[in-house]
Formats: sequence, structure tokens, C-alpha cells
Amino acid sequence: MKATPIDKILIDGRVFYIKRDDLVDPHLSGNKFRKLHKLLQTPKENLNKIISYGGTQSNAMLAIAKMCYIKNWEFIYYTKPLSTSQKQQQVGNYFEAIKLGMNHIEIDNNRYKQEIADIRFNLDEKTYIVDQGGAVNEAEEGLKALADEIREQNIEVKSLATPSGTGTTALFLAKSLPEYIIYTTPCVGDVEYLKMQMLSLVDKLPENLVILKPKKKYHFAKLYPNFLDIYKKVLDAGIEFDLLYSPSMWEALIEQTDEDVLYIHSGGVTGNKSMLSRYLNKNYVF
Ligand SMILES: *Cc1c(COP(=O)(O)O)cnc(C)c1O
Repeated sequence: MKATPIDKILIDGRVFYIKRDDLVDPHLSGNKFRKLHKLLQTPKENLNKIISYGGTQSNAMLAIAKMCYIKNWEFIYYTKPLSTSQKQQQVGNYFEAIKLGMNHIEIDNNRYKQEIADIRFNLDEKTYIVDQGGAVNEAEEGLKALADEIREQNIEVKSLATPSGTGTTALFLAKSLPEYIIYTTPCVGDVEYLKMQMLSLVDKLPENLVILKPKKKYHFAKLYPNFLDIYKKVLDAGIEFDLLYSPSMWEALIEQTDEDVLYIHSGGVTGNKSMLSRYLNKNYVF
């Protein structure tokens, strides 16, 4: 694949470089594309079914749905029960994933944990499970490829930024690029929780990984007026980012750093339509 381009934008008079991983594919982009690298390289005939689970706004879900569509693999996705209004929404990641052929199965809240644990038993060799958010050790290979690309593009910046859900992206990027500082911020849970998740993948956190503490405690996928403001500010600067992860990363970067930074754009903008309609319903508008 050709390297994704690097753009430059100005925010409050400050230059930011943007690694346009969002441009890979409308559904299968950003770090989800990188994390699925190994599966994307797997010949079609080696597998026939992918199983995953998690939230229905998930960018990982949509990315896997697109991969399975391309590969002609069955995709089974387990979630907790969904409201009727969510099911009927004609925009957003869930809607798009269903269109791509995703087979959605709801599990009652009280049986969810057990049933997800049980999926792992009695799998045949043509079925593969992608854990929630794609937080798999296999992701390292694809993030190494991203690291190599960044190194080859050789821009005059020694700091990178990427927001964290599971932390897989920030962690493996930091491991692969020891000569760069990698900034991240937790978007799901707090700093301690993020460290714990990362430490389930490695023994020791890389020294060049800098976890910026969010200004206040944000809850994932909740609506915050300042998130909408930041989204708008960056959009006005020329590039659309996602409304789930990026606002908190931008806030931390703007307030807590001052050197030139290369922001890894991990896509996820397909989810913005449903997020923006939620903001609109709350009368948060810009
Ligand atoms: C999934 C996702 C993240 C979080 O990635 P992790 O590797 O789970 O930390 C960040 N930004 C966007 C846009 C994403 O889709």
C-alpha cells in the first residue's frame, strides 16, 4: 500500500501535522485498518468466519464488517441489547455495518459476560475471534508498518499523538518508534485504567510514551459541549476528526504541549453523523 499523506493545519496559530490514516477507506480506516493488518493479509480461503463483540457505535465493528465484506467472510457481532430507536437509525456505524452484511446478535445483560467467554470454546480452524476494539497482540505488526511509514516520511517532528481507547495503538507505536515521544490520553476510563490495559499487552510501558491527563473526567461516548467546540475548531482548520476520541486528545495537546506534533488521524468520522444528531437532540449546536 502507498503511504498515507501528511497534511499541515493551523490551530490557534500553531502548526499541527496530520497523518491521514483516515483516508485509507471510508469504513476501514485509521488504526482499525492498521490493527487488522494481519487479517487483511490472510488469504480469503484460510478463514470463513470472524466473531467479535462490543459496542454498536464501535469503529472497530465497522472496520471488521468492511473487511469481511471484502473477504467474503461471515461476520458475527455480539452486543448487549439495543434499543429500537438505535436499530432504526439510518446513519452511523451500526447502520453501515448491517448494510455490509454484519450478523448482529444481542445477548441479555445478565448473560453477556458468560456468553462472550464461552464463544472461545469449540471454534473451528476457519473461525477467528477479534477481541473488543481489536486489542490483540497481532495489532503490533500493523502498527509497526505505520511506524515505518512515519519514519520514512521523515518530517521534522519528534512528537506524535493518538488518543487511547484500549491503548493498543499508542502502546505499539511507542514501542516501534523509540526515537519519538508518543502522546496519548485516556478516552475510556482514567489514566490508571489505561495503564492497566496496556500492561495486559506488555510487561513494561515504554519510556517515550506520555499519557496526558484529561482536564476533567470524561465518560466515553457522552456528550460534552466543549467537545463539540473543539471538533468545530479543528474542522474549521480544514480536517474533520471523530467526536468520540479526538476532542479530548486535541484539548490535552493544545493545553499541555507546545512543540510541533504529528497527530495520527485514526478516522472514525462515519460515527459523527449519529453523534451530531445526538448533540442536536440535546440542543447543543454550534
Ligand atoms: C479505536 C479508536 C481509537 C482508540 O484506539 P485504541 O488502540 O483502542 O487505543 C482512537 N481513535 C479512533 C478514531 C478510533 O477509532
